[in-house]
Amino acid sequence: EDLTVGQLAEQIEKPASDVIKTLMQLGIMASINHSLDRDTVELIGEEAGFEVKDEVVTDATKFEDFVIEDSDEDLQERPPVVTIMGHVDHGKTTLLDAIRHSRVVNSEAGGITQHIGAYQVEKDGKKITFIDTPGHAAFTEMRARGAKVTDLVIIVVAADDGVMPQTREAIDHAKAAECPIIVAINKMDKPTANPDRVMQELTEYNLIPEEWGGNTVFVKVSALKGEGIDECLDMINLAAEMEELKANPKRLASGTVVEAKLDKGRGTVATILVQNGTLRIGDAIVIGKTYGRVRAMANDINQEVKEAGPSTPVEIIGIHEVPLAGDPFMVFSDDKEARKIAEARESNVKREEQKTTKAVSLDDLFAQIQEGEIKELNLIVKADVQGSVEALKGALHKIDVEGVKVNIIRSGAGAIAETDVSLAAASNAIIIGFNVRPTGKTRELAREEGVEIRLHTIIYKVTEEIESAMKGMLDPEF
Ligand code: GDP
Repeated sequence: EDLTVGQLAEQIEKPASDVIKTLMQLGIMASINHSLDRDTVELIGEEAGFEVKDEVVTDATKFEDFVIEDSDEDLQERPPVVTIMGHVDHGKTTLLDAIRHSRVVNSEAGGITQHIGAYQVEKDGKKITFIDTPGHAAFTEMRARGAKVTDLVIIVVAADDGVMPQTREAIDHAKAAECPIIVAINKMDKPTANPDRVMQELTEYNLIPEEWGGNTVFVKVSALKGEGIDECLDMINLAAEMEELKANPKRLASGTVVEAKLDKGRGTVATILVQNGTLRIGDAIVIGKTYGRVRAMANDINQEVKEAGPSTPVEIIGIHEVPLAGDPFMVFSDDKEARKIAEARESNVKREEQKTTKAVSLDDLFAQIQEGEIKELNLIVKADVQGSVEALKGALHKIDVEGVKVNIIRSGAGAIAETDVSLAAASNAIIIGFNVRPTGKTRELAREEGVEIRLHTIIYKVTEEIESAMKGMLDPEF
């Protein structure tokens, strides 16, 4: 298909006048709407340092197929995206509110904060984006769908309560996602607050404060009284700086759906997080299995905006169907292309879904290793007693087949629980139960999520099984 001068200029991100000038040098007089044949496009593209590829293959359904690497000089600093996790009632919601009220961007402009699933604040001229759904359910759901949205996790621990089961969950999730952790010790206003005990308890998870020789950042806050919020934001900015978070605002946008719903009056309303590029009104967007055109955009304080750069959450309308939280989106240069890709994705959706929900199974482990899809095998190890847990961990860590290492993302004594299954689903892990079994409900969830649970009573059988699966020599199951 031919490109016009204007379209070509857009694709190579050069002003149309430059393209016209280059064409003139080649002896071609062209206006902006002049259409160019493939050879000419190739010439101009090469001149501008681009390789010209043929038209989009219609059966491509993964956005990665369309991604062009950003060159270093186009990359600019972007705000961090932060998720707050922790045990129920430890103050996640209160902390999110306290932060939002402390310094909403442009609050003087009279915008009304609305709940769109994410918001942005500014501290010392630096923006910070918060995912406004506390708890690890949203985090896990998005990760299970393959989305990596969060750059930093804040683990909230109530100073009067200490480390609780969901605190541990949260830590496991953050670590499995390789997200840096900041610990916020909350409820410091309470007379019964005991921050030293919290710090002591967290050393067990390798979260050790700097004053004790570790490298985890701790901040003491009272979300209720709004105390320590500034310091918390400073720490986030500091941690973000170390991460060197970058994106290219000059390209077409891509990112992830944070939440979406059907609104009676407005149709599909989706909150999306732009992760790379800049999203603009009028953009042709493919989002999950659906597509559309961005008709209007609003920010977290309900102001209309015309564009949104990296790490910005915006609410958009103009998409045909309701996407899911964690669905990726990508903007394409025109409607026709967007539609074609969306249709291809739709028709391939069954296959794609099977691929993503079927995390890892021992049966196809070998194939995945062969294809280079797996470099680390994530395992969750549950056993009847702590002694067995340690023995299993020791034995499993020794496995190394063709450079693929075993990575134990959670271990502990006790029954296999539903939370183990959700962590496994989010992390593509296999669960190993040693002298323990899952409950009926857990088993059911595992089936739904495509998580494999292997039960054993002899340690060397565990290592033997994993090792032979990695080598593609698994015996058929009876
Ligand atoms: P979440 O379940 O983690 O989201 O916890 P919430 O934010 O809903 O807080 C649970 C309870 O703890 C509420 O009654 C809050 O008012 C209270 N709370 C939260 N932060 C603080 C704090 O800093 N100090 C005190 N005293 N109470 C707090």
